[in-house]
Parts: sequence; C-alpha cells; structure tokens
Amino acid sequence: MTAGRRSATTADVGSAYGRRHLLVGIVLGVPFMGVLLATRGAQDPYVLYGYPPVMAGLLVFAWVLARRPHLTAAATRVAVLLLDVVWLVGIATRLATADDAAAAWAALFPLSFMGIVVFLVMGFLDRSSRAAVMHGAVLIGATVVVTGAGLTQVPGGTAYLVDLVRYASYLVVVLVLLHLYSRWKDRLVEVQAQAQRAQATAVHLRDLAYLDELTGLANRRRVLEELTFQAGRVDAAHPVSVVYFDLDRFKAVNDALGHAVGDEVLRAVAAAAADVVRGSDVLGRLGGEEFVVVAPGTDRDQAVALAERLRESVPAAVRRAVGLRVTASFGVSVLHRHESPEAVLGRVDELMYRAKGDGRDRVTSTH
Ligand code: GH3
Ligand code: MG
Ligand code: MG
Repeated sequence: MTAGRRSATTADVGSAYGRRHLLVGIVLGVPFMGVLLATRGAQDPYVLYGYPPVMAGLLVFAWVLARRPHLTAAATRVAVLLLDVVWLVGIATRLATADDAAAAWAALFPLSFMGIVVFLVMGFLDRSSRAAVMHGAVLIGATVVVTGAGLTQVPGGTAYLVDLVRYASYLVVVLVLLHLYSRWKDRLVEVQAQAQRAQATAVHLRDLAYLDELTGLANRRRVLEELTFQAGRVDAAHPVSVVYFDLDRFKAVNDALGHAVGDEVLRAVAAAAADVVRGSDVLGRLGGEEFVVVAPGTDRDQAVALAERLRESVPAAVRRAVGLRVTASFGVSVLHRHESPEAVLGRVDELMYRAKGDGRDRVTSTH
C-alpha cells in the first residue's frame, strides 16, 4: 500500500524512532512495576500475581523490538491485547475481593482506570487507525461489562453504575480525540508523500531538460545556458575557457563494431572526461561524438593543459571499454564578455577542425 493508505500512528512503531520510544517506555516502566510489586505486593494479590507475568511479557516485547524489529507490528498488537486482558482480570479481581461497594469503586482508582486510558492510547501504536478505533471500542465495551458485572455482585454496587457510564463517556471522548489526531497525522503523512513525489518529478523533469540521456552529462541546452551565463560575468580577473572535442574517425567504430559499441565508447569517454574536469566545470555532450567543457576560473594556458589531459585519458578509457585506439581532436578558446554561445562554439569548432586537418589527436587553441 502507499503511504497515503497507511495510517499514521501516535508513534510509528514501524520506524526505528518509534521503537526507541517504546523501548525507553519499557525500560522505565518495568522497574516502576518492580517497585510497586515490592511495596504493594504483600497487600494486593493482584499486584503480587498479576505484575510478574506482565513484567516478563514486557521484557519479551522489548527483546522483540531490539532484536526482531520486523516483528514489531505483530508484537505490539499481542502486547496491547495481553495488557488489556490482564488489566480487565485485575479489575474483576479487585471488585470481587472488595468488602463493600465504596471500597470496590475506590479500588479501581487510580491505576486500574488509568491503565485503560493508557491502553486506549497504545492501541494507536498500530499502523492502522481503523484497527486502533476498533480496539478502543472493544476495550471500552469490555471495561463497562467487566466493571458493571463486578459492581452488581457487590452489595450497593449498582449505585456506582452511573459513575461507570460517566467514566465510559470520558473514554469515548478520548478515543474520538485520538482518532481525529491520528487522521490528522494521516493527512500530514499524505501531504508529505505528495510533496516528495512532486519534488522527485521536478528533479526528473529538470534531468530530462538538461541531461544527455546517453552519457548523463549536460546536454546542449544546458551548455548553451551555461555559456550565456558565464559570458555575462567573465572578465580579466575571472577568465572562462571553452574546451571542445570531437572523436577521431568515430564513424569507423560504429561501422566496424556496431552502434551499441559506439554508444559504449561515448559513455566511456564521458566518464573519463568527468574524472578529469573540476566540479565547477560544466561538461556536456553537444550531440554525436562532440563534447565540450565550460571551465570558469580557467585561462587559456590552463585550458590547453586541461585539453591535453583529456587527450591522454580519452584513448585510455576507450581502450578499456572496447579494446580499440580512439583519439580526439580539440579546439580551445577563452570566452569573451557578452559573446553569444554560437560565436564561441563556432570558434572552437573551427579550431577543432584545424586540429583534424593537422593530423587529428591534437589540441589547437587561440585567444
Ligand atoms: P572525424 O575524425 O573526421 O571526426 O571522423 P568521424 O568519423 O568521427 O566523423 P563523422 O562526423 O563523419 O562521424 C561521426 C559519427 O558519429 C557518425 C555517427 O555514426 C556517429 N554518432 C553520432 N551520434 C552517435 C550516437 O549517439 N551513438 C553512436 N554510437 N554513434 C553516433
Ligand atoms: Mg568525429
Ligand atoms: Mg562529429
């Protein structure tokens, strides 16, 4: 199911964060029960016989949370149900062993009635809000039945049935509030999921608009935008260079080995070039087997050195990819202030063709 269909919970037990909270609760709660057992066990048989199994169950639950996290959801349901049953048995026991109605009613305060509220909340640890509401409704019903039946067994107990109904109404209000809160969190989770999807779509669209599908480099549009941007800020103190290269006799590779191998060569060239350029450079494929580097903060001599490094790494990468020797011819120029991308690309293309004419596998440059 999608995140939207799943309900948020008061503390998402499925997450490590939710599990940590439960573990902290148990680590604090079990010693507290131990203290009650030591101090109240002698007078209260329910504490004496009821608490040890509950404490053992909670420790098993803590072990599941820590060591078998994939069982967390199921273990949480079982733990809450067991606590419900133990607590209801406790209520029945207290009522059955009370001397009179007033003592019976008083015996339920505060721990028995507070426990029911706590378990109502714990029901919302379930991932499904609907299951939590069902659990809460059944728990409230069972509490009314068990307590009502217990009270009617005590002389004068029926006088407290009105108070029991008041308590049950209070539980229903708590349940409704928890449900509203849980649904509100559901919506929050859904909005968050929508925002994440929208962001992923935006990133995807940006990639479609700016990335070359074959190599993952910048595409022509991105390179043109970068050239326009850099032409607006370039000056003597901040030179920007353009290195342009075209693979030599690439058609022969396609003809001899097929287009797929040709594509593999293009990807190998892209990866090798990406290793050579700086993070601030924009490396792109203009189309075919023509690549360009827009290098801000790089003067002509540094750009020629960069082109020479590329000239060495490209044949090595192609050799690794297909076992062939494929070289490239380079044209290098600095970018002039406010010149158009077409102007500078025309210049480096001409320089590159001069390198082809001079025998290929070389770098030609101008100011
Ligand atoms: P030169 O040294 O003069 O540049 O020779 P060349 O063969 O590299 O030049 P030409 O422009 O004649 O050939 C470029 C070839 O690049 C043509 C085409 O087969 C190939 N090509 C263009 N785009 C792609 C592509 O996306 N994938 C593959 N595999 N080949 C491509
Ligand atoms: Mg070529
Ligand atoms: Mg070409």
